[in-house]
Amino acid sequence: MSFTVAIDGPAAAGKGTISLAVAAHFGFAHLDTGLLYRAVGRRMLRGEEPLSAAQTLTAADLDGEDLRGPDVAQAASKVAVIPEVRAALVDFQRAFAARAGGAVLDGRDIGTVICPEAQVKLFVTASAEVRAERRLAELEAKGLKTDYGTVLADVRERDARDAERATAPMLAADDATLLDTSTLSIEAAVARAIAVVEAAR
Ligand code: C5P
Repeated sequence: MSFTVAIDGPAAAGKGTISLAVAAHFGFAHLDTGLLYRAVGRRMLRGEEPLSAAQTLTAADLDGEDLRGPDVAQAASKVAVIPEVRAALVDFQRAFAARAGGAVLDGRDIGTVICPEAQVKLFVTASAEVRAERRLAELEAKGLKTDYGTVLADVRERDARDAERATAPMLAADDATLLDTSTLSIEAAVARAIAVVEAAR
C-alpha cells in the first residue's frame, strides 16, 4: 500500500529537515524534488537546453556539492518556470510517491499538482527574514562568503518567481496543514509534523 506525505513551502522554511525526520520516523522513502530542478538548472548553466536536460536526467545528475549552492538554486527556479520541463519530471515523482511502504516528497507543488491525493499535506513556511538568517548560517557553515542582505534578496527573488509562475506555482493546497516555523525550534516543528502524519495513519 502506498502512503504519501506531501511537504511544500518556500526555500529554507525547514521542509528538508522536517521531511527527512518524518521519513526516518515512519520508515518512508524520501525525495527532495528540488534536486530534480537543481539538476536541470545546473545542466543549463553548463550550456544545455533545459528541456533536453529534464528529459535525460540520470542518477549521476543528483551528485555534487554545488547542486545545493545559490547559483544552481536560482537556475533551478528559472527552469522550473518552463511547463515542458515540469511535465518531463512528473512521472518520476508520481512513481516515487506510489512506491510501497510510504513516501515523503518535498517541493513546491507536491500537494497541488504531483500528488493531489496524498494522505498528508503539509505547507511549511516562515518569514523571509527568518529564512534568510537560516540560509546565511548554512552558507557560512559551508565556508561560502556572503551577507544577510544578499541572502534575503535571493530568498525574495526566488519566492516571487516560484509563487508567481503560471504553471504549478508554489501554493498551499486547500486541504494542507500549515506549519509556520518562524518561532519554532527544529524539534518542535518536527514533532508537529510527525503528529499530523500519525493522525492520518
Ligand atoms: O527546494 P529547492 O530550494 O531545492 O528548489 C529549488 C527550486 O526548484 C525552487 O526555487 C523552485 O523553483 C524549484 N522547484 C519547483 N517545484 C518543486 C521543487 C522545486 O518548482 N517541486
